[in-house]
Amino acid sequence: MTKIRVLDPDTVNQIAAGEVVERPASVVKELLENAIDAGATSILIDVSSDLAGITKIRVTDNGEGMTPEEAVLAFHPHATSKIRDIADLSAIHTLGFRGEALASIAAVAEVTLITRQRGAAALAGTRVLVRGGEVMEKSEVGAPEGTTVTVERLFYNTPARRKFLKSRNTELAHLYGVVENLALAHGEVAFRVVHNGKERMATQRSGGLLNAIAGLYGADLARTLVPVEARLPFLRIGGYVSRPSESRGNPSQVFISINGRSITSRPIAAAVREGYGTLLPKDRYPVAFIELSIDTDLVDVNVHPTKREVRLSREREILPAVSAAVEEALATHDLAREVPAGPVQQQIAPAEPRQARAPTAGEPEAAYTAGHRELALSDKQLRRTETEGRENLLPAMEPVGQVAATYIVAEGADGTLYLVDQHAAHERILYDQVVEQRDAGAGSQELIMPVVLSLPPKDSAALRDAMPLLLGEGFVVEEFGRDTFAVRAVPAALGAIEGPETVRETIADLLNDTSRTTPDRRQAVTCIVACRGAVKAGAHLTHDQQKRLLAQLARTKTPWTCPHGRPTVVAFDKRKLDGIFRRV
Ligand code: ADP
Ligand code: MG
Repeated sequence: MTKIRVLDPDTVNQIAAGEVVERPASVVKELLENAIDAGATSILIDVSSDLAGITKIRVTDNGEGMTPEEAVLAFHPHATSKIRDIADLSAIHTLGFRGEALASIAAVAEVTLITRQRGAAALAGTRVLVRGGEVMEKSEVGAPEGTTVTVERLFYNTPARRKFLKSRNTELAHLYGVVENLALAHGEVAFRVVHNGKERMATQRSGGLLNAIAGLYGADLARTLVPVEARLPFLRIGGYVSRPSESRGNPSQVFISINGRSITSRPIAAAVREGYGTLLPKDRYPVAFIELSIDTDLVDVNVHPTKREVRLSREREILPAVSAAVEEALATHDLAREVPAGPVQQQIAPAEPRQARAPTAGEPEAAYTAGHRELALSDKQLRRTETEGRENLLPAMEPVGQVAATYIVAEGADGTLYLVDQHAAHERILYDQVVEQRDAGAGSQELIMPVVLSLPPKDSAALRDAMPLLLGEGFVVEEFGRDTFAVRAVPAALGAIEGPETVRETIADLLNDTSRTTPDRRQAVTCIVACRGAVKAGAHLTHDQQKRLLAQLARTKTPWTCPHGRPTVVAFDKRKLDGIFRRV
C-alpha cells in the first residue's frame, strides 16, 4: 500500500496545465513545497554554483519521508498523495496537488532522492537516481528520517531552456526570493540557505511571522511594523503593515499568503493600500505582510500551474475586510510615537516601540562609543585590503602620528618626512584590488540582506541602462517592481560593505557619473567603488591602523598617486627640511 497514486486521466485534464520548471528557482519552490507538505520543521537548501551558473540544488527535510515503493512512484507523472480526484481540491491543505513536480524536474535534470519514512528502521532508506525521466538506479541505503533531493545538470537535455537562464547571480536572486516567500508563509519551519558553503539566509522555527520578517529583512524593519488582526466567520486576517513613514514607490513589498500559500494578487495588494487612505501619498505603497486564512472551499488553487495565483469566492467581502483591518490597525496604533533609530536590537518589540533616550549634550559615554565605532569601521576597511606578498614600492617609513585626522605623518629610515593622505592612499589600495579582482573575474559578494532602492523614474531608467556595466563590476541589481531595485551583491573587493547607506551612496554616485564611453565609465565605476569603500579623511586612526595603511600602500603598483591622479604621499627629505630651516 502506498500513499501515492497516479491520478486518472479525467482528473489530470481538469488540472491547470503548463510549464513548472523554468529556472533553478522553480526547482527550489517545488522541492520546498514538498518538504513543507511532508510536515518538515527544518529545511536546508544547499546550492552550489560556479561562474557559469547554478550547478547543484539540494533540499533536505525532516518530514515524513517515503517508503521504497513511494520513492519511485513519486517520479511518475501525475502521481500524488495529496488528492484523489478533483473534488478533493475544495478541501486542500497541502501546497502541492498536481503530482507533476518531481516528474517534470527529473525529465530535464539528474535527480537523486534519498528518503527514509519516519519510524522506519535506520537502514531502510531508499536512494533513487533518475536522469532525463528514466530511473537509473534504486538501492537500499542507511539514511536519516526525511528526504533529501539533489538536482544536478538542470536542463542538460534541453539546451534551448538552458539558454534562457540569466546570470548566476540573477538566478540566485530568484532562488532567494522563492525561499523568502515560503519562509514568510511558514513561520513554523526553520529555513536555512547555504550557497557554496556559506550561510546566506536563516529563519528560526515557530518564531511566527514577525521573527521570519526580522530574520529576512532585519530587526529594524520588524520593530516598526504594526500588527493587523481581524476575523470574519469564514476568514481570518493577520500580519503586519508598515507605518506610513516607511513607504515604497510600488507594491512589490506587499507579501500575501493565503492558507500558507505565498501568492500574488493585485486586488488584495490594492485593498491593503486602500486601508492607508490618505496616510500615504497617492503614489506610495506600504510594506506589508498579510496572512489570510480562508475556508478552503472559497479558494480555487487550480488556476495556474505554478500555483502563484488563486481565485477567491466572496472576494467582494474579503477585499473590504482587508482594507478595514489595515485601517483599524493603523488607527488604533500610536503612529506619532517615533521608533528609536540605532543599531539592531536583539529583542523585538514591534507593538511597543521603546521611547528614545533623550541624548545628553556632551555625554562622555556616547562620545566614546562614537569614536570606538569609527575606529572599528576603519579597522574593517583596512582588514578588507590586507594582502600578502608583493614587493614594497615605498621606502620604509614609521608613522609618527596624524594631523587633522586626515594626514599620516611618517618618518623614513633616512630621516625623510612623509605626509600621507589617508583617504587617497586607501583609495589607491582599494582601487588596485578592485581592478585586480575584476580582471581575475572574482565577481560578486552577495549581501546577506539585499538593499532595496526605490528610485524616481529618471534614476531608475539610468540604473536600468547602467545595469550591464554594474554587473561587469560585480554589482547584482535586480528590478523587482516598477522603479524598485534590489541590490543583491556588490563587487567582491568591497567585501561585507558597511551598510545599506554605503550601497545606496555608491549607486547614487554611479548614476550621477557623466562619463560617456564604456572604458571611461568602467574606470569611473571602479573609482567610485574604491572611493566609497576607503577610509575617510577625518577618521582618527590608531598607530597600528596607520602602520597597516602604510604597509598596504607600499604593496600597491603605483603607491604615489590615487586613482584620480592626486598625490597620496609627499616627501620632504632631510636636505629639503634643512633648506626650509636654512640649516645649510
Ligand atoms: P505533488 O506535490 O503535487 O503531489 P510531486 O511530484 O511534487 O507532486 O510529488 C509527488 C509525491 O511524492 C507527493 O505527492 C508526495 O507524496 C511525495 N513526495 C515528494 N517530495 C516529498 C518529500 N520531500 N517528502 C515526502 N514525500 C514527498
Ligand atoms: Mg509537489
